[in-house]
Amino acid sequence: MEIIVAKKILNANDQIAQANRARFDASRVLAVNLLGSPGAGKTTLLEAVLPGLAKTRKIAVVEGDLATSRDAERIEAIGVPSMQINTAGGCHLDANMVSRAIGTFELDSLDLVVIENVGNLVCTAGFDLGEHLRVVVLSVTEGDDKIEKYPPMFQKADALVLSKMDLLPHTNFQVERMRENLQRLSSQARLFPLSVQTGDGIDAFVDWLESAMRRDRRDR
Ligand code: MG
Ligand code: ZN
Repeated sequence: MEIIVAKKILNANDQIAQANRARFDASRVLAVNLLGSPGAGKTTLLEAVLPGLAKTRKIAVVEGDLATSRDAERIEAIGVPSMQINTAGGCHLDANMVSRAIGTFELDSLDLVVIENVGNLVCTAGFDLGEHLRVVVLSVTEGDDKIEKYPPMFQKADALVLSKMDLLPHTNFQVERMRENLQRLSSQARLFPLSVQTGDGIDAFVDWLESAMRRDRRDR
């Protein structure tokens, strides 16, 4: 019985997610769901990447957190409009929350919407928000076993950003072992090792986002 109820809820989420995607498509907006543990560096990645992109692209950010608007304030501070969703303790964003948030944006005027999910490697993977791409941020300080331990998160990723690479020498994280684990899941995720501190690897990730935006416009 409970399983049936849970499935119904997920189906309702999927319907709203499809409607969100249709709204993004109609406005030719690329939507990215940004996922990862608390402290992986999701907001820090946006702070490093968005100012450059914002020179030529119109961007807005949806920030999901249990409480506070700290991340949205950080995004506003770099000149990018953002909308904070407080989940009141909820551990993931769902399509309905995103639907309400994007209703506050002028979607037609935007090129890119980034939805930074609640920091969580578990249930955030199970909720389609209507995004086109899933970007997972994994920091080297979290350990290379996370891919084996949280397979759904990494299976469905389109890109895996390996963050805090400047700290790699201070950890026992093995990039090769992580790569093998990723292949074992038959994940299609493109790997972007980078460091916001040194700037290494940022350009490759920006180029990937740029080409996704171009592809997105061609398809519609
Ligand atoms: Mg954050
Ligand atoms: Zn959850």
